[in-house]
Amino acid sequence: MSSKTDEIVASIRAAILSQRLLPGVELREMSLARLYGVSRTVVRQALQQLGKDGLVDLPPGRIAMVAQPSAQEAKDVFDLRIALESHVTRTLIDRGSPKDIAKLRAHLKREKAALKAQDWELVRRLGAEFHALMARLAGNALLAQHLEQLQGRVALILQLYNAAYDRHAGCLQEDHEHFIELLAKRDTPQALELLCSHLSVVEDSLRVDDAQRGDDLHLQRALALSPLRGSAS
Ligand SMILES: [Zn+2]
Repeated sequence: MSSKTDEIVASIRAAILSQRLLPGVELREMSLARLYGVSRTVVRQALQQLGKDGLVDLPPGRIAMVAQPSAQEAKDVFDLRIALESHVTRTLIDRGSPKDIAKLRAHLKREKAALKAQDWELVRRLGAEFHALMARLAGNALLAQHLEQLQGRVALILQLYNAAYDRHAGCLQEDHEHFIELLAKRDTPQALELLCSHLSVVEDSLRVDDAQRGDDLHLQRALALSPLRGSAS
């Protein structure tokens, strides 16, 4: 894959993570080729990579679009996330150093500053990056890569299924703060309990049986309405 392909993959992934690109948005090869100043072949390679990561749907013979994960995929993604992050937590407690704890505290400081500045996009991004940082500190590059890939899908799922969707919402910083203290004390049972409740807050708010279609979502955003409740779909 060319570096140009990687660049496009990174750019589209960042737009999904920061929730600027919504599920169901069409990704036309021609338009993307023009915008990025590359050939359609390069765009196609980028879309295929994003498809493998579950961020783009590529229906045969039709225009690619930002993925709209099914209810079952949403449940699977959250199950996998809890399993991987539980492993990260155990590894950090077994092998983590005071230096690792200091890095997590420094990251939390940036999260708090972003909240104070009411920079919501940064709040959400740093909240997600806290989890990626933990995975990197746990020293397993492959696992960190998998978790980072999952985060894009998590962003799409939240937009599609979260009944109480709030553009301002991110990770609870109090949870992150408490979690760092538990890591420092090497309290595995409490740290795992907090991790599960932290990740389940999001999962519990998913209305996985009542997905809004992408079109509804665009209308809802465009018209600045609250999420539709109890709508037949
Ligand atoms: Zn978090």
